[in-house]
Amino acid sequence: MTAYMDRKDLSNTIIDAARAREIADGVRRVLDRIAAAESAAGRDAGSVRLLAATKTRDVGEIMAAIDAGVRMIGENRPQEVVAKADGLRAGCAERGFLLGAAAADGGDGAVADSARPHIPFHLIGQLQSNKIGKVLPAVDAIESVDSIDLAEKIARRAVARGIEVGVLLEVNESGEASKSGCDPSVAVALARRIGTLGGLRLQGLMTVGAHVDDERTIRAGFAHLRRTRDQILASGAPGTCDCRELSMGMTQDMELAIAEGATIVRVGTAIFGERAYK
Ligand SMILES: *Cc1c(COP(=O)(O)O)cnc(C)c1O
Repeated sequence: MTAYMDRKDLSNTIIDAARAREIADGVRRVLDRIAAAESAAGRDAGSVRLLAATKTRDVGEIMAAIDAGVRMIGENRPQEVVAKADGLRAGCAERGFLLGAAAADGGDGAVADSARPHIPFHLIGQLQSNKIGKVLPAVDAIESVDSIDLAEKIARRAVARGIEVGVLLEVNESGEASKSGCDPSVAVALARRIGTLGGLRLQGLMTVGAHVDDERTIRAGFAHLRRTRDQILASGAPGTCDCRELSMGMTQDMELAIAEGATIVRVGTAIFGERAYK
């Protein structure tokens, strides 16, 4: 268990007005940045979706972001998914939204209520195979699949539950040893194998930008992910026709990612402020 989870009650729903306003301002600034970057890149308004990266934030903070216009959330750690899922689902239901996997598998009878707008709930951090069972009831997509071994284990669990879970293949475009993700040279082959697995729907590719100052280097990684996605789509291989998403770009580099075709940007700090815990 991560230390901050003992020091902060992540299921807390109480938020003071000043903090809620700070988060709402953050959301507005990020949506403005996205709109400006879409326009600068000659892309359609609304072609990039904002995923709020909510690690270390409690339910009250996340609901404040949803009240300000966030329509997709992502957690890094399975323990945080578990700690917050019930509170988030209840908060979303009060506001007329369906959160995450509840929309897909109708675990609470929700499937009949498909008129309610859906807020996707993604896992964006590393997943150890012994935690798959914990996250599947809550999330509708796992963005951090980077091996055939992990994909097969998720697939087996999903089939056993009678559900289909979205997956994005994470690619380590920067080659930095600290990062997860498959080697770019095997991404196409891996995507084709994932496409054949039951219980999974391959929705796209994900990467974390290079941790360097040189913008050309960061952009080159994003551009390579886009070309890889295009190659997978062009292959026409079974199970790859929905592989459209490019989840790339964070607080520091979202404009570069949008210029290179991002469809999802994952943003934490610019919405919620600096994290007090790592
Ligand atoms: C924390 C995190 C983000 C968001 O990072 P910020 O710099 O706070 O915007 C995006 N993606 C992943 C995988 C993360 O862990």
